[in-house]
Amino acid sequence: MSENIIINSNNDTAFLGHPKGLAYLFFAELWERFSFYGMRALLTLYMVEEIFKSLSNRDFATAAVYASYGSLVYASTVIGGQVSDKILGMRSSIFLGGILMAVGHFVLAIENDIAFFLALAFIIVGNGFFKPNISTFVGALYKEGDVRKDSGFTIFYMGINIGGWIAPLLCGWLAIKYGYHYGFGLAGIGMMTGLLFFWSGIKKNVFGDKGLPPNNEVYEKPIIGIPQKTFIPILAVLFVPVIAYILSSYEAIMGGETILGDETIVGLIFKIIGITILFYLGKIMLKATLDERKKLFMAILITFFMTLFWGFHELSGSVITLFASRNVALDGLMSAAQTNSLNSMFIIILAIPISLLWGYLTKKNLNPRTPYKFGLGLVLAGASFYILALSEGSADENGMVPFAYLIVMYLILSIGELFMSPVGLSKITSLSPKSIVAFMMGIWFLSSAYAFQIVGFIGKELAIENTGKEINGLVSLGIYTDGFMLISQYALGAGLIVILFSPLMKKIMGDVH
Ligand code: GLN
Repeated sequence: MSENIIINSNNDTAFLGHPKGLAYLFFAELWERFSFYGMRALLTLYMVEEIFKSLSNRDFATAAVYASYGSLVYASTVIGGQVSDKILGMRSSIFLGGILMAVGHFVLAIENDIAFFLALAFIIVGNGFFKPNISTFVGALYKEGDVRKDSGFTIFYMGINIGGWIAPLLCGWLAIKYGYHYGFGLAGIGMMTGLLFFWSGIKKNVFGDKGLPPNNEVYEKPIIGIPQKTFIPILAVLFVPVIAYILSSYEAIMGGETILGDETIVGLIFKIIGITILFYLGKIMLKATLDERKKLFMAILITFFMTLFWGFHELSGSVITLFASRNVALDGLMSAAQTNSLNSMFIIILAIPISLLWGYLTKKNLNPRTPYKFGLGLVLAGASFYILALSEGSADENGMVPFAYLIVMYLILSIGELFMSPVGLSKITSLSPKSIVAFMMGIWFLSSAYAFQIVGFIGKELAIENTGKEINGLVSLGIYTDGFMLISQYALGAGLIVILFSPLMKKIMGDVH
């Protein structure tokens, strides 16, 4: 359908000119992200200071578990999306996911190592059902061709970041004042609030017939005597201890050799999946027409660069939080956990100006091609880490650097995010051949999952040994800033290569971008 045809799919303009249902999804997702990012702000510090505090390689173990958690929390969305499409429908999936996530956050509030891994597993399974389906639900509010859809997603992205902005501030404050468990408890309350919003939307019938199971027969059809609508939640809960086991079986935690040596089970699984995906994509490429091949190549390329970008960006919850806690003079303005709110704060401030900029440049016929924007995004990521690396020069005698460096770093990184993430999300659907759009969407989500493998690798490289004494600030500063300089060079290098090859790519790809 032509983009120029203006179709206002329904007359519902109750929420900022958008369907009323968007308001309920907006608040449901705001509170779900509140729980997700509130918990994420505390996770690394909690592992280093509580769960693994007695290990000599506690940073290393923390990085490994953080990577496995992050990879699985995004990879599970691929399965949650499929199960919703085929059996549960979006409503039941969102409820199931939300309840599991809330349980996870409340279990985290229990002071116990086994509870810790079970809690992470609950959140992984829950997020798999919640996150992809609430995003698809937003799209379902609009008929095809409705021009409000893109701005609907921009409003939704705002909800995500309002949650990501307030949560680290509040949960971080509670964690310092009363203890980590209160912070995790608040995250759980946040998730319950999100579910209440979603439930009240259903009660008020704002979603019409959207999000119901795709096929009632399948929904009710029994498997070993249990209807699928009940079987799936039971299966989901049964998976929780399995995932908890996978997360915790790692030699750095177990204190002995495992057959995988230094590798995590999750790392191994992801390597196998990665190779399989590449073979599958190769097969599709061979069969495709030239135009499809070009589009698919472009989709794969931007997904690859997105993975790289998230791999640096997602360091915020791990190495950068540790850097903030060990080497940044926060001067009582924020705690290390609270600095996690800076990214979302800048996204809230800049999302609308940058989307207006693309609109303005399109009118002038100057809107950069997607790969060019992605190149710039990576260059910005490189610049942001360069700022952090530079901070070493302004450190005091204890190795503490001024807070301003971290703030400027997040400002630049957030601009980079806005050059890539929203642009890529809308591009991926138009670049993928119709028959594999859902598959490509899954791959797009997997880019965040793979990014956490990069985060884990960097986190382990920058791990500081626990000698039982207070960490020497000058030692950790040296390790971190050397690492940031290397990351900066990789990101700048990758970004500059993309920009440099842009003219050639334009020649080969024509209007595919
Ligand atoms: N900040 C965005 C969200 O939470 C995207 C994060 C990601 O995909 N890594 O939805």
